[in-house]
Amino acid sequence: MPMADLYIRTDISELPDARGYFGEFGGRFVPETIMPALDELEGAYAEAIADPEFHHELRHLQRTYTGRPTPITHAQRLSEALGGAQVYLKREDLAHTGAHKINNALGQGLLAKRMGKPRIIAETGAGQHGVGTATAMALLGLECHVYMGSVDIRRQQPNVFRMKLLGAEVIPVESGSRTLKDAINEAMRDWVTNVETTFYLLGSALGPHPYPMMVRDFQSVIGLEAREQIQDMTGQLPDVCVACVGGGSNAIGLFHAFRDDSSTELIGVEAGGRGIESKEHAARFADLDISRPGILHGTRSFVMQDEDGQIMETHSVSAGLDYPSVGPEHAHLRQLERAYYTLATDDEALEAFQALSKLEGIIPALESAHAVAEAIKRAPTMPRDSVLLVNLSGRGDKDLDTVIGILDDL
Ligand SMILES: *Cc1c(COP(=O)(O)O)cnc(C)c1O
Repeated sequence: MPMADLYIRTDISELPDARGYFGEFGGRFVPETIMPALDELEGAYAEAIADPEFHHELRHLQRTYTGRPTPITHAQRLSEALGGAQVYLKREDLAHTGAHKINNALGQGLLAKRMGKPRIIAETGAGQHGVGTATAMALLGLECHVYMGSVDIRRQQPNVFRMKLLGAEVIPVESGSRTLKDAINEAMRDWVTNVETTFYLLGSALGPHPYPMMVRDFQSVIGLEAREQIQDMTGQLPDVCVACVGGGSNAIGLFHAFRDDSSTELIGVEAGGRGIESKEHAARFADLDISRPGILHGTRSFVMQDEDGQIMETHSVSAGLDYPSVGPEHAHLRQLERAYYTLATDDEALEAFQALSKLEGIIPALESAHAVAEAIKRAPTMPRDSVLLVNLSGRGDKDLDTVIGILDDL
């Protein structure tokens, strides 16, 4: 099929199964009161993706609003400096709003419109998903309410301002630790109360079925484009694909298209924070002392928790990777050994952040810098004619305040 017809990959025979499971992960662990809303959403999504008109509308917005397809850049100077594999960058940083989150926000926004739900709710930690959602809702003319912990509101003023400018209402959450997980709880509560009129727009490949599937499908445009582009540019499939993994949406969006290409190795990079020994990280697959299968926010996956099952505090220099669980499909791909997961520490990410800026003129998001850090480790071990594809999930403008505080020797 030509690329124009491939903006959502929806082979119906594949995972998740009918109950929303990817192997032993995923599912739907929510109060009974939310079940009907999830059933309704699942039905509406199935109907939408069977309708060519839905694909047509989404594709039109991707082209004329988001700026898709995003290009692939050969990072020539970086590759030369590393002296191994040729490094290529899939430029999600060039999508409107500067990251991949808009792909999902537009997809779910169009679905909400089809379902006749005028009121959109979302939750946000660092504010990136809130901004992506507020942007898409401004475009689509839907009412937008974003739950955000009051601690995060204080830490993320520019994004709070952006959301308000885009016409969204930002609702401060004062419960618990007043951060992302409390905001998710409040959003769930709102959804149960107002389900008739309200669509819950979830931001990563997380949460109860059908969200991990739906978010993956809306992000699969990344890999579908990249698979075709890289073959046009290099005449081959990538030997290695690398992406950072917060909730896992940009990574699954890239990996999905390559899933059946057994010659392509898939590598997810988690936040190693201050190092595994410090316990201050968000490396859910690396630190099996404190991370094991469990349930968080409606889905079964790896969760960082203490012996009593209390969710652990996580740390990363990049807010977007700072989450105690991970999308269930990643847990499954890891178990199948179809994808491998590693980590980059804060320091490694900061080094990669500077290297890409200096050698390529591209300031990456700190999240994406984790993927670049893995490329910097791996490329030198690979032959010069091999191809390493990095998903550059976003641009770094939003991180300058964080980085200014750390790199004050510049
Ligand atoms: C939010 C974000 C991430 C992490 O989210 P995933 O769902 O794991 O993709 C990564 N990169 C950027 C730029 C982000 O904004």
